[in-house]
Amino acid sequence: MKKILILGSTGSIGVSTLDVIRNFKDKFEIFGLTANSNIELLQKQIEEFKPKFVVVRNGLKSKELKNKVTGCNVLTGEEGLIEVTKSGDYDILVSSLVGFAGLEPTIESIKRGKRIALANKETLVAAGEIVIGLAKKYNSEIIPVDSEHSAIFQCLVGEDKKNIEKLIVTASGGPFLKKSVEDLKNVTVEDALNHPNWDMGSKVTIDSSTMMNKGLEVIEAHWLFGLSKSKIDVVVHPQSIVHSMVEFVDGNIKAQLSLPDMKLPIQYALSYPERFSSKFVNTHFPTLKELTFFEPDLQKFKCLQLAYNSMGEGGTAPCILNAANEIAVEKFLKREIKFTQIPELIDSALNKIEVKHTLDYETILECNRKTREFSQKFN
Ligand code: MG
Repeated sequence: MKKILILGSTGSIGVSTLDVIRNFKDKFEIFGLTANSNIELLQKQIEEFKPKFVVVRNGLKSKELKNKVTGCNVLTGEEGLIEVTKSGDYDILVSSLVGFAGLEPTIESIKRGKRIALANKETLVAAGEIVIGLAKKYNSEIIPVDSEHSAIFQCLVGEDKKNIEKLIVTASGGPFLKKSVEDLKNVTVEDALNHPNWDMGSKVTIDSSTMMNKGLEVIEAHWLFGLSKSKIDVVVHPQSIVHSMVEFVDGNIKAQLSLPDMKLPIQYALSYPERFSSKFVNTHFPTLKELTFFEPDLQKFKCLQLAYNSMGEGGTAPCILNAANEIAVEKFLKREIKFTQIPELIDSALNKIEVKHTLDYETILECNRKTREFSQKFN
């Protein structure tokens, strides 16, 4: 039996992880669950999975839940989150908080040598060098949950990394693939939240619509697989069937395919190096009409270009990109800025905030804080 701690159990990845675990109750048990404020769903999860610990970020909601549940320790806030990850009494951390907030608990878990099923890409974007360095030092395995990185990881099983020619990361292109630059000026929050293939949380759905998601994923791939920017290509593939590919030095290419469903990469991150039999997805080739591929439009999707630039610059530039993007997405969702202002905000933060090239944890925290403060003032 493997004990699982899920950070963000009421979010999209958390719910899918519990769907997987429900199918394998003989293999996994839940050690802990955490949520921001959705205690109604969390209470149902507690009743079904009987965790030892839960953490609720929101203080009032945490109090409310304490009065409703028995046989489970309810902790509160950031301290509770760190306490439960530090306890070390689990085997796998499912890191599925949204944004920079996932960094500190993920680091604490890495320091305890746990397996990290990593869904929180912002952790690697903001602090990749630190996170990968610590994972090596503490012998902590990072297994990607992001579908593209899971695909690459699966393609690399049994391969020697020195034989990689390049990674080919696929992108759906999001809901605005066919819109013109002019059309983008008038898109609404509802338009942007309407993703054609994937059912995800609001942050990653907006990131998909700007293609910042792909930019963050290229940076994530750079850290996970230790390859330079020139060895990571992005190709638009609107059907989201090929989840990514690896080209080797001899010209052979491996791909991983399936209908889009996050339960597949989640299950793989939990079962690796084994594969468990499951019936979540049935990919039936004759009903797939076509698989198409083309170049991303960097003029239209400026966020992707900004991500490439920040990766090229290195140091704290990706941390600035990430923090500015988090605030830009928040502001767009609150209807404080227009869709086309998302890259404008990020660009102005990248121009204004000084990039540091000595990377320690304090520098990253300071850079994140400064960028958020600056970005909040943008209008
Ligand atoms: Mg992805």
